[in-house]
Amino acid sequence: METILKVEGLKTYYFTSTGVVKAVDGVNFTMQRGESLGIAGESGCGKSTLAYSLMNLVPPPGKIVDGSIILDGMDIAKMDEDSLRNEVRWKKVAMVFQGAMNALTPVYKIGKQLAEPLVIHGNISEDEAIEKAKEILPKVGLDPNIINRYPHELSGGMKQRVMIAMALIMNPDIVIADEPTTALDVIVQAQILNLLKKLKWEMGINLILISHDLSIMAEVVDRLIIMYAGKIVEIGNSEDVFGKPNHPYTQGLLNSIPKLGTHELNYIPGLPPDLRNPPKGCRFADRCPYVMDICRREEPPMFEVGNGHYSYCWLNR
Ligand code: SF4
Repeated sequence: METILKVEGLKTYYFTSTGVVKAVDGVNFTMQRGESLGIAGESGCGKSTLAYSLMNLVPPPGKIVDGSIILDGMDIAKMDEDSLRNEVRWKKVAMVFQGAMNALTPVYKIGKQLAEPLVIHGNISEDEAIEKAKEILPKVGLDPNIINRYPHELSGGMKQRVMIAMALIMNPDIVIADEPTTALDVIVQAQILNLLKKLKWEMGINLILISHDLSIMAEVVDRLIIMYAGKIVEIGNSEDVFGKPNHPYTQGLLNSIPKLGTHELNYIPGLPPDLRNPPKGCRFADRCPYVMDICRREEPPMFEVGNGHYSYCWLNR
């Protein structure tokens, strides 16, 4: 298989007035062509910061401070703004941003907004770009005539489909979808997930899906990364991570998914650590039911726990 993306030692920090928040703190992973990859974890675990880092689009006061993001021979982490704009964003990596309800500009018609990346990055006229926009809309299940409508004339699900069309319009290598079903009702959520699956199979897009909701990951991704407090704690094929979760945090997350036929709701007690001053050893130690002395002293290395299945937990030593 061909490696399309290689992330090594990535660190992205926020330099706030109260301290340096280590939101992504030494992350390594690869992505193969044609695969879909999920990144999951609680709010604040660093998954959205990681997604923005992959486009080198982290908003201030955040920035990438170390590591590399290799795509097509380019190191996205080290590129300047002009090169990122001209060579990477939309063309190589595009993003379906969180919150479709507010992501579209209310005063412009859909056609103009869809055409914008093509006009700016594709060097074609607005009329030509709108024609191309009409071609992409049926692929996301929308009538081409909606180019003449304003965002307020569309439902939440239609807006999310427009956002997906916008990400696809430059035919990028990788599409990142950041919480694409948040704020949508369950029926529309299922429709959007089915659309992402269809696009993966029909257009062969390399999808990175970011979500706190493990149940939607199970539907869509081939491989799953679990993040906790700025670090990857487990990575593997989704059947393995769901079927044989190794890391106590992954086990806790899966155990927290509500089950049919019971009123019992499980959760992981405690709170994630303050990322301005994270603990020295395992960052999950304060919440882990299996914590040992070594966990508080030394950061757990990566252990192979199955074929292509890795976990960062001292229980595997
Ligand atoms: Fe728990 Fe230790 Fe494993 Fe961390 S390294 S998850 S504290 S057992």
